[in-house]
Amino acid sequence: MIKLRLADKKVRLLAELRSEGIDDEAILDTLESIPREEFIPKALRGQAYENAALPINSEQTISQPYIVAFMTQALRITKKHKILEVGTGSGYQATVLAHLCRRLFTIERHLPLLNSAEKIFKKLNIFNITTLFGNGMKGWPEQAPFDRIMVTAASEEIPAKLLEQLKDGGIMVIPVGAQGKSQYIIRITRDGDDYNQENLLPVKFVPLLPGIVHES
Ligand code: SAH
Repeated sequence: MIKLRLADKKVRLLAELRSEGIDDEAILDTLESIPREEFIPKALRGQAYENAALPINSEQTISQPYIVAFMTQALRITKKHKILEVGTGSGYQATVLAHLCRRLFTIERHLPLLNSAEKIFKKLNIFNITTLFGNGMKGWPEQAPFDRIMVTAASEEIPAKLLEQLKDGGIMVIPVGAQGKSQYIIRITRDGDDYNQENLLPVKFVPLLPGIVHES
């Protein structure tokens, strides 16, 4: 019963994303194929296909589906790409990226969130995601360079280590701006030592923070 209702809501959500300018069929197919309800606390599962951000554990949020789709589309992914995500959170965005690329590396600073995301990756039989418990501002030097980098928490400055770890010609998408002030999703395209910057969309994200947290 609840399954049917979720399926109907999913169809409606996909139509809404199309009308908001998400036109990449591979991304729409990916969103259709991933059960977003798996990444959401049980009490909120009825809302899994609403176009809204929802709370997860450790006072974090799973991003709004439109923002997930928008940031994914802005990254211009191919199946050949090796991608770094900073801010695993629920694991939903990581799962979307993993469907579209070769290998996805994701870093989270809250251990309980990372543990539960890993369980879902296993349950959904996703094998091309590698996780790291750590401060993603430092990137993942052992795995660098990356074709694409996506940061899913906002910071006032773009972490220099992430810029360094972006391949020449690579693209990074990151929300930039202080908490409570205007934040924008920025797209950075690397051209040798030049980093071209485009402001794409006003947004509201949880903060990118230093350090690690063992318990929620
Ligand atoms: N991509 C996530 C969105 C989670 S919200 C999803 O699909 O659900 C942002 C996440 O970034 C939070 O889980 C937060 O703990 C994490 N985060 C914040 N600062 C970080 C840092 N420096 N390194 C790694 N993760 C960080």
